[in-house]
Amino acid sequence: METRIHNATIVLSQGDITEQDVDAIVNAANKRLAGGGGVDGAIHRAGGPAIMEECRKIGGCPTGTAVITTGGNLPANYVIHTVGPVYRNGTSGEPELLKNAYLNSLKLADQHNVKTIAFPSISTGAYGYPLKDAAKIALSAVKDYIKTETNIKKIYFVLFSSRDFEVYRETLSMLMSK
Ligand code: ADP
Repeated sequence: METRIHNATIVLSQGDITEQDVDAIVNAANKRLAGGGGVDGAIHRAGGPAIMEECRKIGGCPTGTAVITTGGNLPANYVIHTVGPVYRNGTSGEPELLKNAYLNSLKLADQHNVKTIAFPSISTGAYGYPLKDAAKIALSAVKDYIKTETNIKKIYFVLFSSRDFEVYRETLSMLMSK
């Protein structure tokens, strides 16, 4: 599903983010950049040790911020590592932190002349963020960012499950009809 906003396009798809042929993929990392399960583990497995080597040198990444490394053996040139919030009750600053994770990833991408970028659904796996709420924050953040001055042309959301894909699809339709 493709939706054009200003000079950019949001593309929703179902699949594995490590296989995406884009300039940058985004990793849902942890604060220590230590690797782990979920999408983080998949990216390090597919991308090889060069990514972790750079992560070790960088040392860490506070929640809501982003850092960039090589894409190693991935089709993507870069991995942008961002850290979403662990969901507690929704009143511990989670919405703002999740929004910042998306916005700071996009800013960093622009600084590196990235034209095509793929996001996973940050925080909705092990970090427990309710999917519908997270989808709304993710898509609104991207939609707002596209309206600013950016050279990014295509922003993919690569959803791992069909349910995640459906929720993102419904949420994007809802946001576009406003
Ligand atoms: P977090 O700790 O931020 O919640 P997770 O990796 O646990 O991160 O989950 C985030 C989302 O990434 C989940 O929806 C999960 O199903 C999805 N995911 C896991 N592996 C992949 C992959 N290879 N490509 C895209 N999405 C993935």
